[in-house]
Amino acid sequence: TAGKLAEEMGYGAYLVGGSVRDLIMRRPSPDVDIVVEGDGIAFAQELSKKIDGKVIPHPRFATAKILKEIIRNGEKKSFYIDIATARTEYYESPAALPKVETSSIKKDLYRRDFTINALAVKLNSKNFGLLIDFFGGQRDIKDKKIRVLHNLSFVEDPTRAIRAIRFSEKLGFKISKHTENLIKLAVKMSIFEKLKGPRLYEELILLLKETQPHHSIKRLADYGLLKILHPSLEEKKLYSELARAYETVQAMELLFLKEKYRKELIYLMVMLWNLEDHERQEFLQKICVPENIKKEVIENIISAEKALQAFPSEESPVEIYTLLSSLNIEIIILMMVYAQEQQKKAISFYLTKLKEIKPLLRGEDLKTLGIPPGPIYKKIFDEILKEKLQGRLLSKEEEIEFAKNF
Ligand code: ATP
Repeated sequence: TAGKLAEEMGYGAYLVGGSVRDLIMRRPSPDVDIVVEGDGIAFAQELSKKIDGKVIPHPRFATAKILKEIIRNGEKKSFYIDIATARTEYYESPAALPKVETSSIKKDLYRRDFTINALAVKLNSKNFGLLIDFFGGQRDIKDKKIRVLHNLSFVEDPTRAIRAIRFSEKLGFKISKHTENLIKLAVKMSIFEKLKGPRLYEELILLLKETQPHHSIKRLADYGLLKILHPSLEEKKLYSELARAYETVQAMELLFLKEKYRKELIYLMVMLWNLEDHERQEFLQKICVPENIKKEVIENIISAEKALQAFPSEESPVEIYTLLSSLNIEIIILMMVYAQEQQKKAISFYLTKLKEIKPLLRGEDLKTLGIPPGPIYKKIFDEILKEKLQGRLLSKEEEIEFAKNF
């Protein structure tokens, strides 16, 4: 559809970036990126009409997102297509936000981070499927190499150093010697100190999310980038704590918990754990964490610290439940990382058994028993819950008896 439309509109349209890399590597690709030589937003509007999608335009960047909802196996899934106008970005100063200027596909590809991400596939029906490889991306995919396109790449955009580590870790590729030297040079030139804007946070979060975080943090440290994030971050300690956090998250995955949790934020909280209050603020400021997330992670760390201190010394199910039931799952997982053996067992017991325990009786049932509604209902339910946490009142009949005698 996109290829035919491109022909009709007289534009060149290309599949680009990670989607082409993943296609060549036969990996599933989460998103589709299209670049148009022409008006990207107009193209997105026409394409979305044809596929019955919804367009979200960003005129400032001459880009648009198409949201298409599909029903698969009775489940609604959202699917995104990113459409950009072929462009070359020029930079006013290192590490500033790019300005956009219309240009052709070659220039568009030249502004990209690594050769493996600078491939394109023509979508126009005329040359459909033609692979465009100006910079040796195919060869580097074959050789498993991460390579920048030119020597000023990290000066233009230092966040690419974090991206290099992410792709290297997640794809099992090596960063080429020359590219590695350019990262070290950028660090020496203090390019990273000038870095600002939310992209540092976004890239750090993707790094934590998509790789084994302890390995990636070691890689950051090897290039001297960890101390740039904050001078008090200690590689060795972080390595072992992130390794433990990673194992904890792996174990959680086996529990199929109902609640969703953001493992990357748990890893970020681990990075913050050993810092003083003011250092936490400095670090979060440096990486430009959005205000709401900043507040959330700081509060969650404090809650986890407090809960660990207040942990019941005995194995009392009621006390464990009382402590943990008011905490969100991210706090509980964070606690697991820093808990002692006994506490860990208690938290696991809570997550696998206690958490799901609820009275079977409903308000309706109490009404049927002739108990007039009022604060007494809450008292009855609380007492039933306590009994159940201790392994009593297993059936509904037993709960009814208990309520009658309350
Ligand atoms: P994945 O989604 O699998 O992590 P991706 O390659 O799709 O990988 P995105 O961050 O979605 O990664 O970026 C899409 C494309 O945009 C990249 O393939 C790359 O060509 C380009 N790109 C992204 N960030 C940069 C950057 N900082 N500098 C240059 N090009 C970039």
